[in-house]
Amino acid sequence: MSSSLARQVNAATGSVEPDATAGRLVAELAVRLERAGIAASRTEARDLVAAVCEAPRFWPVLEPTAALGEGVILAARIAAERRAAGAPFAYAVQRAAFRHLTLAVDERVLIPRPETEMLVDHVLAMVRGRADLHVLEIGTGSGAIAIALASEANFGRVVATDVSCGALDVARNNAARYARALCTPIEFRVGSMFAPVRNEQFDVLASNPPYIAFEEAPALPRSVRDWEPAEALMCGGDGLDITRQLIDLAPHHVRAGGVLAIEVDERRAERVARTVLDRGGWNAVRIHKDLAGRDRFVTACRANTSY
Ligand code: SAM
Ligand code: GLN
Repeated sequence: MSSSLARQVNAATGSVEPDATAGRLVAELAVRLERAGIAASRTEARDLVAAVCEAPRFWPVLEPTAALGEGVILAARIAAERRAAGAPFAYAVQRAAFRHLTLAVDERVLIPRPETEMLVDHVLAMVRGRADLHVLEIGTGSGAIAIALASEANFGRVVATDVSCGALDVARNNAARYARALCTPIEFRVGSMFAPVRNEQFDVLASNPPYIAFEEAPALPRSVRDWEPAEALMCGGDGLDITRQLIDLAPHHVRAGGVLAIEVDERRAERVARTVLDRGGWNAVRIHKDLAGRDRFVTACRANTSY
């Protein structure tokens, strides 16, 4: 954030505490985080101040003398308290980066993961050069995938669903904040799986469904297990129940020539790809790796068969 932006923030957030500068706030919060046992407390304090100011990560150390308004200071102290209580960084600052977006997040939604950014790349690559396509995302959470797609390509229609009303509140709020950047407004609908789009067909079906098995919960990092919504992470049937339902019903909702793009657990990518092949009517069934080299996505193209 530039100094002039800092002045605007101050103007909007009230008077300035004496000596309230970015550098002093980083130092104060670093002490708080260190006392809470957080490693790399100074780096986290810097990132926290930058996030609350919607500024680049290094801004607080590059402009340590920038004055901060009371609103920003209060927001940063609250975020530090949340972090000290163990909240993941994104919930503490109530923001997460996803592609070019900064999304509002809270405990009602999964924190969007860097690897999921690639699901968007796969969809964009598969539809390049085609116009007026209709997109369905199931399980939108914060809205990350749908908002990225709707802002990065000119789709004819984008529908995003979730079974969680709380998640949809978060997603709608994010879409509203990015309304001017969207090529297509997003229709949000509540309900399980395809219930909100009964009898509707699309050209793209994208989903990052829950795919952790309940038995695997103890092995999740505590920051995930204790903080993120269980219904966003886990499901029955070895973590495959929801993915199997998606694959089973997808042929009724994806037009010939349409595309399927699903995020999967790396341990079960082969099984998911095999399920798509066995379902029939899909061409070019592929497993793709994430940046860490793990099998993370299954994509397919709908054949010209009617179901
Ligand atoms: N799309 C977001 C992302 O990639 O960050 C969130 C993905 S999160 C892993 C899975 C989402 O699916 C959650 O928001 C959860 O509420 C939703 N969900 C779980 N079961 C569902 C169901 N049966 N029908 C629709 N959505 C469901
Ligand atoms: N990849 C997520 C994790 O780190 C799980 C996301 C999901 O279940 N879709 O736990």
